[in-house]
Amino acid sequence: QKKKYIQIFFLIFFFFCSEDLRRWFLQQEMDLFRYRFNELTENLMQKFLEHVNLSFEAIGDDLKNQLANELSASTPGFTLPKVKEQMYYKVGLADAVDLFRARRVFIKDGFAYVPFKEIDVIVLNNYRTKLSKALALTARSLPSIQSDERLQPLLNHLSHSYVGPDYSVQKNTGKISLEQIDALSVKSFPLCMRQLHRALRESHHLRHGGRMQYGLFLKGIGLTLEQALEFWKKEFIRGKVDADKFDKGYAYSIRHNYGKEGKRTDYTPYSCMKIIMSNPPSQGDYHGCPFRHSDPELLKQKLQSYKIPPSGIAQVLELVKGMHYQLACQKYFELTHDVDDIGFSLNHPNQYFTESQKLLNGGREPKKEFSNSGNFQQKNNSQESINSSSTPASSNEKADTELEGLEAYFTED
Ligand code: SF4
Repeated sequence: QKKKYIQIFFLIFFFFCSEDLRRWFLQQEMDLFRYRFNELTENLMQKFLEHVNLSFEAIGDDLKNQLANELSASTPGFTLPKVKEQMYYKVGLADAVDLFRARRVFIKDGFAYVPFKEIDVIVLNNYRTKLSKALALTARSLPSIQSDERLQPLLNHLSHSYVGPDYSVQKNTGKISLEQIDALSVKSFPLCMRQLHRALRESHHLRHGGRMQYGLFLKGIGLTLEQALEFWKKEFIRGKVDADKFDKGYAYSIRHNYGKEGKRTDYTPYSCMKIIMSNPPSQGDYHGCPFRHSDPELLKQKLQSYKIPPSGIAQVLELVKGMHYQLACQKYFELTHDVDDIGFSLNHPNQYFTESQKLLNGGREPKKEFSNSGNFQQKNNSQESINSSSTPASSNEKADTELEGLEAYFTED
């Protein structure tokens, strides 16, 4: 039990590290509470209200009959017979501000008359107030926690930690040809990578945040080092970079990504958590998570341009509003793959790709489309695997630390 408390307090401290995390934590706690409260039977709800000293006064039948017309007129969806069968509570106005503001309750003499069906709004408000106060109190301890050099690195690492598969070992290495990428970006890339691919095709360039995020993703889906060099070079020389500048300025960093230069670390593709929580894009950048980093109106336009139906867009935007970015991405998966339930919990852009391919190919891995470039890569595949195994993938933690060093190689925009 003691361990559990320490874990919970540690997590709470972590969620104080930024305003974003604080809001996210509050939102998640509210959603969880709402879900669990609405799962209770009426009887248990009553008991819960008594237990937390929220036992509001239920009005008697006489008063209810006397106010029936007003209650029915002021409570949307409540006809007279429905008012008669519903229990009503007399609640102080301060506790029912949300219902009052939305014109969903009858007000008289400083009291709101709240039907039992709406009592969750009051309970949730109360919970939000208590939780916010408790969080504010906890925040007072933050400076001393942050100055503790034993805890600070742990707290920092938590924001990037990811414990799922790291997609650094690619069983598909060399199975994807460069000619397939345009089609795959539409069918099987998550929105973050689709956006990066489109920006690269349109402007023939990506700044370093985009090259890192997209380059490691492509490596994760199976592009060999030779394919990656060919892919980036072909695109960059269509823009302002000539072949010589590419070889001198960019090829090194691609080889570095594949563990062939510098510390020879086999770098892992970024997880959703890392993309969402770190290095937000600025003007002219295309990296990041569109569900987290795009303006909702721009996101809406993007989804419209991808022919997502209006009802689907509304669902995605609702999830984004609630800061459920990965759930919004799951919804995008469902809408673009025409499935009702995604059937997995999304944590990684490469997981999105793998699951999409499994679904589209009926459980099989992506089919090889042969081309000159593809055949060449397939021959090199065996050599690539030997090379990779001589440079084993580091643990996520180690890779995260070493990525900090790698970013120094990507200073050229
Ligand atoms: Fe990409 Fe993950 Fe954001 Fe989806 S949730 S767009 S996979 S970062």
